[in-house]
Amino acid sequence: MFQPDFALTDSLLKKLNSIKSADIFSLLATETTDLEKFALLLSPELDISQLKKLSTMAYQETRKRFGRAISLYIPLYYDNRCINGCTYCGFNVHNTIRRRVLSEDEILHEAKLIREKSFKSILLVAGEHPQSADTAMLTALISKLHKVGFSCVSIEIAPLSEESYRHLRDDSHLDGLYVYQETYNQKRYSEVHPSGPKSDYSYRLETPARGAQAGIPRIGVGFLLGLHNDWREEALNLAQHLLYLQKYHWQAEYSISFPRINEAEGVSDIYTPVSDRHFIQLISALRLLFPFVGMSLSTRETPEFRDKLTPLCFTNLSAGSSTAPGGYSEESTDLEQFEIADERAPAQIAEMLKQHGFDPVWKDWE
Ligand code: SF4
Repeated sequence: MFQPDFALTDSLLKKLNSIKSADIFSLLATETTDLEKFALLLSPELDISQLKKLSTMAYQETRKRFGRAISLYIPLYYDNRCINGCTYCGFNVHNTIRRRVLSEDEILHEAKLIREKSFKSILLVAGEHPQSADTAMLTALISKLHKVGFSCVSIEIAPLSEESYRHLRDDSHLDGLYVYQETYNQKRYSEVHPSGPKSDYSYRLETPARGAQAGIPRIGVGFLLGLHNDWREEALNLAQHLLYLQKYHWQAEYSISFPRINEAEGVSDIYTPVSDRHFIQLISALRLLFPFVGMSLSTRETPEFRDKLTPLCFTNLSAGSSTAPGGYSEESTDLEQFEIADERAPAQIAEMLKQHGFDPVWKDWE
């Protein structure tokens, strides 16, 4: 059972906050990256020239392992009901937004529209509600999505038991599970998850391991950047989590997503923005520690930022996303979970990738 070693995190934070700029140069010259070096690369002392060097190393590492291919995926929101009280999310139970639950026919219609945009990889997304996470319903749905041409079907929904994940994997060939801890800081976690099943920190933390144990081949982890006021602490705990998963659940392939908090309607919770510079430092240092891990960048980021950053570390991009149930059939901004910053059509994203010398891949690896 995983739990971050908070004492280790504290001691690494002390080290990274006391390293001198001159020592970072020699650090950048060493070949391998372990947890301690990763921590030191997160130093606030890292200057612009060192950041440039770090990001160049990350770029080289990424392209050495992943070549020029970038996979494209799209989320399909099918239910925006939620029984949790997350203070930072527009779908939270207390928010008086319009709720919508798509029927199976409506989901398949949305999926058809998505297939027409060339996607073969789809991510099913729902708020946490017992009905949206019903195993029998999901088994039938995922099987149908495979039948209509999706080679990769993943879920980002309420955490389930290992037994449920095993059913989804064995009976409908579920390909991927995405579950973000939001924040690894327990105090902050309690503050922003005051009610509902999500307030159980440990159950959520153990979800990636349950999924991997059940045989789901691809697992995505991450935290919500800006939710806790120390992104370096979050990065150290995420790194420990991923090292644990790779050691004890090595059969699965892992990826990291980097959602940065965005304004959502009806949400007034205070958060701490993570700057572009720190974002680049974070992803570059993570790439050196995890050379084989996929990295995803969502449409929460602006087109300009996505165009600049994609070559650096990323292997997966969402494109043409709607965060509203039924959003591909009709525009309905009042149903959105968060605002999309990159509203370009999937074909435009594919064109941008080609212009940068990358190959857009519409399906995940089969
Ligand atoms: S973050 Fe997820 S669990 Fe929390 S309120 Fe939003 S949809 Fe519900």
